[in-house]
Amino acid sequence: MIYLDHAATTRTDPAVAEEMTKWQTELYMNPSAFYQPAVRVRMKIDEARRKIAGFLNVNPAGIYFTSGGTESDNWAIRSAVEANSAKGRHIITSSVEHPAVRNTMRYLETKGFEVTKLPVDKYGSISAEDLKKVIRDDTVLVSIMHANNELGTIEPLEEIGEITAERGVLFHTDAVQTFGHIPINVEKCRIDLLSASAHKLYGPKGIGLLYINPGIKFGSMLFGGRQEKGLRPGTENVSSIIGFAKAVEIASNRMEEDAKRESALRDKFEEALINNIPKIKINSGASARLPGIINLTFPGIEAEPLLILLDSNGICASAGSACSAGAIEASHVLLSAGLTNEEAKRTIRFSLGRENTDENIEKTVKLLKEIFIEKEEHR
Ligand SMILES: *Cc1c(COP(=O)(O)O)cnc(C)c1O
Repeated sequence: MIYLDHAATTRTDPAVAEEMTKWQTELYMNPSAFYQPAVRVRMKIDEARRKIAGFLNVNPAGIYFTSGGTESDNWAIRSAVEANSAKGRHIITSSVEHPAVRNTMRYLETKGFEVTKLPVDKYGSISAEDLKKVIRDDTVLVSIMHANNELGTIEPLEEIGEITAERGVLFHTDAVQTFGHIPINVEKCRIDLLSASAHKLYGPKGIGLLYINPGIKFGSMLFGGRQEKGLRPGTENVSSIIGFAKAVEIASNRMEEDAKRESALRDKFEEALINNIPKIKINSGASARLPGIINLTFPGIEAEPLLILLDSNGICASAGSACSAGAIEASHVLLSAGLTNEEAKRTIRFSLGRENTDENIEKTVKLLKEIFIEKEEHR
């Protein structure tokens, strides 16, 4: 098998899985309990929180564990606007957000909030100038992702943060694709709320975090006990929190090296495709981009049959994003980036990760070459 879908999820690092087992089968006590083994569990959660906060270079008091990126996005946006609705009911976002943000915005529109969606360039990047034009006195929140999950484009967070800070508007970023992959400077970018998810960085699924600037007005989405200072109640997902921290520790040690290796592999992959498949179009060419994401429009064949061909040869890739796969409908991200409906439907995303090798890329290119040469000959 050749796994080229790391933007959808990653393999849990064996060292992470091993660490997690101990906290499931030996130290499984409820961290809220009184006895010694439970205190050890509680201390381990605190340690995990400190480690992750250290990696993000934020106050550990601002880290809240959630069930993943989707929950963090929902919580960040809903609570930020509800807790601050006295200021206004206007929200700004981009037109290329993940469904977790996009559909939360859609919900808020039904509740009387006004949502402005910023347009993007052909790589899916918003412009700070456009943000300046639409930001208002009654704008409560700007939510712009750190990097796009389909195109890999990195958004200009520092410029956005400068504007939101100056206007006293809260700034949320969905950093699920970047956390543990490229550096992020929360302070410099003036970020108030940041979403991340462990399974995109070789950690377990079903655990994520929301960083909340301790200085902002914010509320809870769930009601229950006193876990996570009462803001996100429910017995902690202990082993996953510890696994998340382990994944972050591993990422912090090898992030730079991985990024270098993956971008070299990506460039090699792109070059081979351009040289071997006539009329192929690369959509993910922004100058600020993630190391591992390649987004391509193929000539004359829709994504679905192509993915099936790849799959029957053991190659895992995605059409657009995982969330729109299954029902192949042109992705809103690609349409916003200016692709036609037809082009969007012929588009595939390959996303590279730690375990990919030169050989993986060579095999994939060879197969694609065969598919397209055969197609040409059948004409
Ligand atoms: C994967 C992803 C999410 C959702 O995270 P889950 O932990 O799977 O809920 C949100 N935003 C982006 C950009 C993603 O890539």
